[in-house]
Amino acid sequence: MRVAILGGGQLARMLAIAAHRLGIEPWVVDPSSEAPAAPVARHVLGDLDDPRSWEAIAHCDVATAEIDHAPDAALAWLSDRMPVRPGPRAFSVAGDRLAEKRLFGELGIDTAPWAQVDSLEDLRSALDRIGLPAILKLRCEGYDGKGQRVIRSADEAPAAWQSLGGRPAIVEGRVEFDREVSVLAARGVDGDVRFWSPVENRHEAGILRLSRPLAPEQTGFFGHAGRRFVGSILDALDYVGVLAVEFFEVGGRLVANELACRVHNSGHWTEEGAETSQFENHVRAITGLPLGSTRLLGPTAMVNLIGTKASPEYWHTVAGARLHWYGKRPAPGRKVGHVTLRTATPEDLDAILAAAEPQLLPTVEEPSRAAGAGD
Ligand code: AMP
Repeated sequence: MRVAILGGGQLARMLAIAAHRLGIEPWVVDPSSEAPAAPVARHVLGDLDDPRSWEAIAHCDVATAEIDHAPDAALAWLSDRMPVRPGPRAFSVAGDRLAEKRLFGELGIDTAPWAQVDSLEDLRSALDRIGLPAILKLRCEGYDGKGQRVIRSADEAPAAWQSLGGRPAIVEGRVEFDREVSVLAARGVDGDVRFWSPVENRHEAGILRLSRPLAPEQTGFFGHAGRRFVGSILDALDYVGVLAVEFFEVGGRLVANELACRVHNSGHWTEEGAETSQFENHVRAITGLPLGSTRLLGPTAMVNLIGTKASPEYWHTVAGARLHWYGKRPAPGRKVGHVTLRTATPEDLDAILAAAEPQLLPTVEEPSRAAGAGD
């Protein structure tokens, strides 16, 4: 059995490793010879929108992607030859913030107040309705806080609009959240759904720094509501694979921020902290295998290693730390690895995280990002 993955970054790398463990051959398409997945998969060196790249994976049994913005033409071409999982509809929703907001609305899932913005006039009138501060976000392309601008006063609107190139966008109200949480689930070809423990996330400068799965007694109302919402999205999209949905928790309410139709950074802890990882269950789902148990194994956290100052050394001596280094060229704001921490007690985990706090702060080299944590 062969699995084709569009994109060869760290997500593809971890998917490829999971595939090998299941005796499945991973193929990745990526234009960079230094793609993190290249050493662990059959690498098609080419652009995702180049038909020659598609031909090179035409012999695979199923296709998936590690990115939300897989080219429509590639998905359509592949769909004629093999199952593409999750399906093209999932990619069209996850790759466009407008479609995403509409889906949340259709399913009765709360969002921040938002409006479609195709011109400066649209933006001005939306700000009148939504209020300030607000965040202008490109509909497509943006990730990790890129392609976003915070607008604090009406006279900042023209500069924000221009700085995003006047491209199709949405604007949304800034949410004063109590915490950020995400819910990850896998759905199999047969409709079987498994949820991992909901995750509490901490972002700095718009980039995920820390994820911590919540024990059942810590999730309260949100575990139940989160599962209901994510379950309804999985069903609406007739989804196959791993889906991640990010929420803000606000005064006992869940407000959806965005979804990712792929394995997600806030699920990396599952490799060591759950009985079956998100990577294995994604491969299982798309190849029609039964899903594995998602049971939480104990106190766990995941720390992202970001930027040019990130180094693996600090973590080599931390008991319970498992390092994942992606082999990427470091750059400001770039995720170059992560660490999963597993301990016997929650107190041990708190102590390790408190000692590591300086490692979690954004460094001055990193470009200031717009939306992230109020920049
Ligand atoms: P996004 O790319 O939409 O996930 O945004 C990245 C991060 O920016 C989020 O995880 C939040 O920390 C912050 N953020 C984005 N949108 C909002 C919002 N409407 N209100 C408050 N914070 C936001």
